[in-house]
Amino acid sequence: MNTYKIAAIPADGIGPEVIAAGLQALEALARRDGGFALDVTHFDWGSERYKQTGALMPEDGAQQLRDFDAIFFGAVGAPDVPDHITLWGLRLPICQGFDQYANVRPTKILPGITSPLANVKTGDLDWVIVRENSEGEYSGIGGRAHKGMPEEVATEVSIFTRVGVLRIMRYAFQLAQSRPRKLLTVVTKSNAQRYGMVMWDEIAAEVSKEFPDVTWDKVLVDAMTVRMVKDPQSLDTIVATNLHADILSDLAGALAGSLGVAPTGNIDPERRFPSMFEPIHGSAFDITGKGIANPVATFWTAAQMLDHLGETAAATRLMRAVEKVCAEGTLTPDVGGSATTQQVTDAVCDAIRGENI
Ligand code: NAD
Ligand code: MN
Repeated sequence: MNTYKIAAIPADGIGPEVIAAGLQALEALARRDGGFALDVTHFDWGSERYKQTGALMPEDGAQQLRDFDAIFFGAVGAPDVPDHITLWGLRLPICQGFDQYANVRPTKILPGITSPLANVKTGDLDWVIVRENSEGEYSGIGGRAHKGMPEEVATEVSIFTRVGVLRIMRYAFQLAQSRPRKLLTVVTKSNAQRYGMVMWDEIAAEVSKEFPDVTWDKVLVDAMTVRMVKDPQSLDTIVATNLHADILSDLAGALAGSLGVAPTGNIDPERRFPSMFEPIHGSAFDITGKGIANPVATFWTAAQMLDHLGETAAATRLMRAVEKVCAEGTLTPDVGGSATTQQVTDAVCDAIRGENI
């Protein structure tokens, strides 16, 4: 039997609530399947630690995570700590330190959940957004001169490397090829951004030659927001830069009913280091401690984690359980229900234990 070493980092806000839910579902799966076991280590990193010690995680934090099979992450961010400190103090060092260059964001309208788009229902929207996760607009390069003065100047430099774009493009074409429609949309902004974005377009054309069976097209990011809303059926696999895909995937989450159902995997496709799985949403201060956080995004990302670990049967079972519970109407308030986090979690665990899942 395989035992997987999982690093759980619940962090801030509703992070601990949804990670606790996710771990209950994973335990139910491990017990039912008997094919694997989890060895979970909890890390109390996050904003509380920052307020006490001045750092969200220890200096050798990444080193401590190196030998885990996967990282299960909640959310980071606190009302009284600036967001750039929490983001750069915990999530980004892990993503960048472990070169998790592919950020993979599946989006579907789950049964029982209503999209804000009229006439779009379950089955009409089935996307995977691939976000470049190691460079681009979030390279962290830039600076401020004459801070606070009238002549202040700030730069925020986007770095695109041929190696970085090639590898994310290959990953996206491969993923598109593995899906039934074999359809890829490459998103750029190469009309206004003449260097990095034009290189993206060129590299997409180059890589497409390696995948003759994949149908692909390009679209500018602003036009893409319109297409996602007006013609969602025309999209399947989508690849975009760090910033563009960050924005598009929040829109995708909203179109699928709620940010509370949107998952993401930060993946090192070469498997040199652990990959990290997390819900897309943040720490949601407005509902923290109320027991109503939607755990579905975290279940879904747990399924992504199981897939990554090679436990595909368990991953499929978990998603079937989630779909059954959603279809039956056991939903949290963000998707129109009145169930609590724990009620949804109990229903999913019951479904996992059920015979027909
Ligand atoms: P948010 O995702 O925390 O919340 C946006 C809205 O969605 C809120 O109304 C919230 O209640 C709702 N929501 C989010 N997740 C939900 C869930 N599981 N169930 C039900 N409703 C849910 O985004 P925000 O308000 O912009 O940011 C709050 C904090 O989180 C900030 O500090 C921000 O920096 C941080 N953040 C962290 C991450 C991350 O850790 N990856 C991502 C986004 C935002
Ligand atoms: Mn985001």
